[in-house]
Amino acid sequence: MTDGRYYASLLMEDGIEKPEASGEGKAIGIDLGLTDFAVTSDGSKYQNPRHFKKHERNLKRKQCKLSRKKDKTTSNRRKAKKALARVHSKISRVREDYLHKLSRKIVNENQVVVMENLAVKNMVKNHTLAKVISDVGWGTFCTMLKYKAEQEGKIYLEVGRFFPSSHLCSNTLLHVPKMGLSIRMFDCPHCGQRHDRDTNAAINIRNEGLRILSLGTSDTALGGSVRPKRYGRKSTTVAATPDELGSPCFIA
Ligand SMILES: [Zn+2]
Repeated sequence: MTDGRYYASLLMEDGIEKPEASGEGKAIGIDLGLTDFAVTSDGSKYQNPRHFKKHERNLKRKQCKLSRKKDKTTSNRRKAKKALARVHSKISRVREDYLHKLSRKIVNENQVVVMENLAVKNMVKNHTLAKVISDVGWGTFCTMLKYKAEQEGKIYLEVGRFFPSSHLCSNTLLHVPKMGLSIRMFDCPHCGQRHDRDTNAAINIRNEGLRILSLGTSDTALGGSVRPKRYGRKSTTVAATPDELGSPCFIA
């Protein structure tokens, strides 16, 4: 590794087959965002640790130090390069640790885990957001949830990226009026309840996942391009409007 450390990675075949997946048990929906890293349908909020920001000053200092060492052959330059690589490596290990712990907790507590299909790769093409998105590690998080769930005979599934999770009342499934990003709670015109915006989205994601499961069509629905027909044409325009940073799948 460029940071001068050695990492061991072991892969073992234990001969144990993956248990048959069962949907019997508690189900959870997860809404990913930038303000809170994850909000779940049971109302829990997990803050985004912003590892990168915390280490950014240190990173900048090490970068400056390196750029001042013009002569490429000196050992001082080599040292500065190594110091910089160490900060990068520290950030990614802290982030990975956080994601491992959170995904472990969620899989332990639930039988069915439902996420939005993020199409993270597409979003990272958007340069202004690329840094913060790859920093929060959504893609890694989904991968971890998936393999941890599958190892234990649990179900991980993704609902299509055009599912308007943020734009439906989770009680009535009716469309709620558009609102600005700053509005985190709203009084629902349909059911009269006060909804937390992100929790409401997470509940919609969970319910949509359970609906797909009950239809037994998860294979086709996992592709992300499959849009549930019952939301009709209108949901396409709703989903395509980049009006909400909090729901990453709307950023094309
Ligand atoms: Zn409502």
